[in-house]
Amino acid sequence: MSLVEKSLVELSKLIRKKEIKPSEIVQEYVQRTLQFDKKVKSYVSFLGEKAIEDAKEKDNQLGKLENIPLLYGIPIAIKDNISTEGIRTTCSSKMLENYIPPFDATVIKKLKNAGYIITGKTNLDEFAMGSSTENSAFFTTHNPWDLERVPGGSSGGSAAAVAAGFVPAALGSDTGGSIRQPAALCGIVGLKPTYGRVSRYGLVAFASSLDQIGPMTRYVEDSALLMNVISGYDKKDSTSVDVKVPDFLQEINKDIKGLKIGLPKEFFIEELDNQIKENVLNAVKLLEKEGIQVEEISLPHTNYAIEAYYIIAPSEASSNLARYDGVRYGYRSLDYKDLDDMYSKVRDEGFGAEVKRRIMLGTYSLSSGYYDAYYLKAQKVRTLIYNDYMEAFKKVDAIITPTTPDVAFKIGEKSADPIQMYLSDIFTVSINLATLPGISIPCGFKDNLPVGMQIIGKPFDEATILRLAYRYQQLTDFHKKLPEIS
Ligand code: GLN
Repeated sequence: MSLVEKSLVELSKLIRKKEIKPSEIVQEYVQRTLQFDKKVKSYVSFLGEKAIEDAKEKDNQLGKLENIPLLYGIPIAIKDNISTEGIRTTCSSKMLENYIPPFDATVIKKLKNAGYIITGKTNLDEFAMGSSTENSAFFTTHNPWDLERVPGGSSGGSAAAVAAGFVPAALGSDTGGSIRQPAALCGIVGLKPTYGRVSRYGLVAFASSLDQIGPMTRYVEDSALLMNVISGYDKKDSTSVDVKVPDFLQEINKDIKGLKIGLPKEFFIEELDNQIKENVLNAVKLLEKEGIQVEEISLPHTNYAIEAYYIIAPSEASSNLARYDGVRYGYRSLDYKDLDDMYSKVRDEGFGAEVKRRIMLGTYSLSSGYYDAYYLKAQKVRTLIYNDYMEAFKKVDAIITPTTPDVAFKIGEKSADPIQMYLSDIFTVSINLATLPGISIPCGFKDNLPVGMQIIGKPFDEATILRLAYRYQQLTDFHKKLPEIS
């Protein structure tokens, strides 16, 4: 078994037993990236040489360390909307093309303390707005399973890098599905933690009441390990929640027998591709043999989730993105008449079409006269959606659904039709609106393209969904297959 096929947990053990050096691992991943990323294009900034240097330094210190931290010498890629001190953080936008943050996001500090090695910053839809990475101002990332198809989005670069075997893990961010949807389309594991579980400090804000950072890996145990590292209260994020962080790596070993699982009828609808439905239901059957109990449930307001999301998220975005005025940092237009003209040129030239669309949608929904009809109403729908889930969780411990209505679509197929693009989030956005944790794991293939299954948990109960996902991976090997990149 080559190093790039191993789980992060295994690699971490090998390093800590001093059976392998960080540089041996990093070199192998960097090699593979240099060979294939010309085709996949997962990185906006690839830091291969720096990663090898870091690894060599870590080799030298390995002998001197008494306690070797969990991620010592482990290469990890970071979505390019997470602030990294001294490393360009572009959000795949012209607006921030040359922006170098003077500080680290809290998650980056935590990864550093755990000894990780950054391999680079991955591509995304501009400011995380999109489902395919086609909205990146720089280039589109390709799905390693079929280079003519999208990797999903917005964390498409992170998903593609993990799927292609360029890194054992990456961080992504998820506002309406941006970790889970690309994880599903690339055949990897993506976890969106409960809102408040992981600090958002240093994550460039898109929609602050929905955004969460989470791990993207091939193995569920690696997701658990990363959750151990990145979770926890942070006084720098006023929405982070001070609750106990369990040892997720321990929790995943618990038996799943007796767990009650709900299958919401609103997710198994006509628009859902038949093969995807079959894959998910087969996965459920497999878990049933392990002793879970399954029942049909109803989440009656699911149908309004997309509409509510596409009012709330753009509203928050229109406010968050007001800061890009060209004055303090970011893109500055060179040719302008006066201050007003400068603002408008900066924003006209610095933002791409989808970002402008969101700013307009949001500004409209928040404007006086429309606020009650749109923003306020969407917030009320959000509460109804939350209540649906809370009602369901009185009966079940977790909920299983497909992650996406279909497999990865062709590059260009949906880019001209924003509504079609928005609909690819149909199974993920309600989980963000309800602040819940959700994980997508590979559950088979359709025409050689990966299919994802989503497991949704109670607030702050990532442990149960990780446990179910872990059990499933022990029984299957879809996640072990690496794509042949040609
Ligand atoms: N695709 C959704 C959107 O465009 C979700 C994006 C995300 O989760 N960042 O808003």
